[in-house]
Amino acid sequence: MAQTKFLLDESEIPTHWYNVIPDMPNPAAPYLGPDGQPVTPDALSAIFPPAIIEQEVSTERWIPIPEPVREALQLWRPSPLYRALRLEQMLDTPAKIYFKYEGVSPAGSHKPNSAVAQAYYNREAGIKRLTTETGAGQWGSSLALAGSMFGLEVRVYMVRVSYEQKPFRRSMMETWGGEVIPSPSNRTQAGRAVLAADANSQGSLGIAISEAVEEAASRDDTNYALGSVLNHVLLHQTIIGLETRKQLEKAGDYPDIIFAPCGGGSNVGGMMFPFLADKAAGKDIRLVAVEPTSCPTLTKGHFAYDFGDVAGLTPLMKMFTLGHDFMPPGIHAGGLRYHGDSALVSQLYHDKVLEAVAVPQVATFEAGVMFAKAQGIIPAPESSHAIRAAIDEALRCKRDGESRTILFTLSGHGHFDMAAYDKYLSGGLEDFDYPDEAIEAALHSLPKVG
Ligand SMILES: *Cc1c(COP(=O)(O)O)cnc(C)c1O
Repeated sequence: MAQTKFLLDESEIPTHWYNVIPDMPNPAAPYLGPDGQPVTPDALSAIFPPAIIEQEVSTERWIPIPEPVREALQLWRPSPLYRALRLEQMLDTPAKIYFKYEGVSPAGSHKPNSAVAQAYYNREAGIKRLTTETGAGQWGSSLALAGSMFGLEVRVYMVRVSYEQKPFRRSMMETWGGEVIPSPSNRTQAGRAVLAADANSQGSLGIAISEAVEEAASRDDTNYALGSVLNHVLLHQTIIGLETRKQLEKAGDYPDIIFAPCGGGSNVGGMMFPFLADKAAGKDIRLVAVEPTSCPTLTKGHFAYDFGDVAGLTPLMKMFTLGHDFMPPGIHAGGLRYHGDSALVSQLYHDKVLEAVAVPQVATFEAGVMFAKAQGIIPAPESSHAIRAAIDEALRCKRDGESRTILFTLSGHGHFDMAAYDKYLSGGLEDFDYPDEAIEAALHSLPKVG
């Protein structure tokens, strides 16, 4: 019997995160404040604790993981690396396929990897409450979990359409002691402004971020926590790639190509950054971010300074963006419906260190169902984007008679997405393309810088 699971001992949980910043060929552009000048640590201290601000700009290659954070991570880490032998057989491909499974965390995705670190640093700084936003509920539930582990109150602004459509994600957050508020709400100026213009607004991630940031900035006992995009979040997620490297060593293998689904870039960075040094040293390895054709941030967006939210409360970040007032089509991969992308991932994509592809929704569900039948695990719709790309590569290998090693992040399970599977199985799911005119129009909404 060939081995299918490559496991690490708990003592092998990495002791340090890997910071990609000192190894980038070109640095990412600094975040800018409303005055067009680089943001000072002081300005960020209204919403983030000192340790997180330090990590955001650190040029240390290795950053120690505090012991209480490792102990929290130990509840579900190290996560397993699987060889997808049954999927290989189903596809009849000469390629080898591996996947790193992050759905083993209590919240069901990779997001708690950063949530526990952020909760810890905030508690150490004497903070009592955290605010955040959530779309589909993955990040909100991860932060609610982390809050319960480190004794912080958590208030989650949840995009209204998800609040109504995903009642069980909400119950999950409440079970862990989180408070969930549908956004736009009348608790913040940002929310009231949106409601004044459209009393029936369904909300968006950009609006919910505005609400959470506004509340955190206005209270001394409260900070804000973001689940993706920022440098420190990608840093925390590098535990994924660091574990994977050790596991592949045990398997006696090395990937030719890595795929990861890309929303804000945290599991892309988390998986791929630890492989970048090899690539820089001449190793032939391709690193490919996979995004939806309906929200094609990297493949069709502009590389420019833009806000992270609708109200323009966040610093300006130089990133690939579809425009901060972008309203994503209602695809089911909620975690991939964000107008921007991490500045680090954007810079590395711009420098052609990372690649990107976009895949349409129906094809991702087709891939997700194939994967579920072959491997048993029902993937999150976000993760199915990476599965689609991995399957396409495996089929290309079959056509060309090439034996290559493919690796992807299975970023989460899909147990809270069964309504979307229902829709796919009954033939009711559609593809959305993002029209070129909308991409053109986004250019005009970009803030003027410099
Ligand atoms: C949030 C989420 C993503 C996308 O977020 P990134 O920051 O781009 O990693 C992907 N998969 C799952 C399961 C998610 O919950």
